[in-house]
Amino acid sequence: MKYEPLTNRIGGQRVPFAGEHLDVTSPVDGMRLSRVPLSTADEVDRAVTVARDAYDAWSALTMKERSQFFYRYRELLHRRAAELAELIHEENGKTREEGRAEVAKAIEVTEFACSLPQLTAGEVMEVSPGVECRVEHAPLGVVASITPFNFPIMVPHWTIPIAICLGNAFILKPSEKVPLSADRTADLLHEAGLPPGVFNVVQGDRAAVEAICDHPGIAAVTFVGSTPIAKQVYTRATSHLKRVLAMGGAKNHLVVLPDADVEQTAANVVASMAGCAGQRCMAAATMIAVGEVQAIVDSICDESRRTVPGENLGAVISQAAKARIEAYITEAEQGGATVLVDGRGAVVPGCEGGSYVGATVIDNVRPDMRIAQEEVFGPVLAIIRVRDFDEALKLENASPFGNAAAVYTQSGDAARSFIDAASAGMIGVNVGVPVPREPFGFGGWNDSRFGSGDITGKIAIGFWTQSKKITTRW
Ligand code: NAD
Repeated sequence: MKYEPLTNRIGGQRVPFAGEHLDVTSPVDGMRLSRVPLSTADEVDRAVTVARDAYDAWSALTMKERSQFFYRYRELLHRRAAELAELIHEENGKTREEGRAEVAKAIEVTEFACSLPQLTAGEVMEVSPGVECRVEHAPLGVVASITPFNFPIMVPHWTIPIAICLGNAFILKPSEKVPLSADRTADLLHEAGLPPGVFNVVQGDRAAVEAICDHPGIAAVTFVGSTPIAKQVYTRATSHLKRVLAMGGAKNHLVVLPDADVEQTAANVVASMAGCAGQRCMAAATMIAVGEVQAIVDSICDESRRTVPGENLGAVISQAAKARIEAYITEAEQGGATVLVDGRGAVVPGCEGGSYVGATVIDNVRPDMRIAQEEVFGPVLAIIRVRDFDEALKLENASPFGNAAAVYTQSGDAARSFIDAASAGMIGVNVGVPVPREPFGFGGWNDSRFGSGDITGKIAIGFWTQSKKITTRW
């Protein structure tokens, strides 16, 4: 085992856990990396008590004082970027370069948090002679984030810097598949001088999540993960009257029009489909090919063949994920679709225990096939051929998800029509992974998000705070 067994991180301490543990296995080569505690409601309760104790002093600091920790933390993230990228690579399987990109995004959100003193400066107005109204933003108390496996550093950092800088005390429940990055995050926040108990990590799976949803001492919960679990968490935590934002899964449609630039479109579609081995909620899943776009499809196939598992294409999270993804491809093939580029059975020499799927392009997919409807979460592009733009829009709108959608065209008119009609929270025009940069918020629509608002950006300030309206006359 490469690393020591993990513990929970509560009140600045490593708190050993006597209960059940799970092995943490690297998807890169199948090596056992560590063991992760499967915490129970008792550990969640302990973390809430400690966080609550830390909250009073932390929330009493000014926003400017709190933001100072994040200036120091930003420097640490910069200095440790390579080390963090290596850890992400080991436990998640993505390439080191993709790991670096995650750290860059974590830095960007941290920089945004450093600007919160300016962004939250209160509003004041004389509402009648001698009477003044003022608005202040107060933190909520103890809050929690539950995160998925696919971005072990980036997704936790969507919430950590913002929620904490705004004055809340925080509990992170990371995915049990990638617990090491969260543990390392606790080290770095501690090194930045964050007071003990303001940030805590409770490792585990379902039991820990349910305990977070149920605990009366937790005021707000964010969840990022698959749609079925997002629904469960949203329903359960709101039934306990918590504030909840639950981001779910996705099935993103890229509409390619005949006037799209061939090379640029192909490179962009493949980067969206195969980046992070397709394990992104923003990944291209379905390409809707409108009319005559054969040159683009051919170029997509060429570009896909240039992705090499273990080199510029990382692993998928587990052998189970590999088997599930390959089963989708086989089922589509048996249903009459044409596999143009086949990534099944990929093996990386020297990493035979790893979980790899090569980039896969499937043509002539029908909208009623499972591969066209369900989230595959692998480097697989399903191409549906349609006659015209209206048919493409109908298909995009028929999806219950609504995370991202993109159009490839050189026509401003077509792009505008797509922006207006697509039912998704994040739209790309000739951009296959349309992730908004700070200060814009990240968030989908429909079954890709339960609750209101976005998880990052200016709108997230409202989620992590409550406004206090003060009226004074002297
Ligand atoms: P997941 O839903 O399996 O797990 C997410 C979290 O929920 C983990 O912390 C896990 O321990 C916990 N969990 C798992 N099963 C549970 C259960 N039965 N009850 C309570 N908690 C449970 O998701 P994943 O496989 O880790 O991540 C991939 C999914 O996340 C994909 O669907 C992807 O689209 C989605 N995702 C969405 C966004 C977004 O912003 N919309 C971002 C990243 C990932």
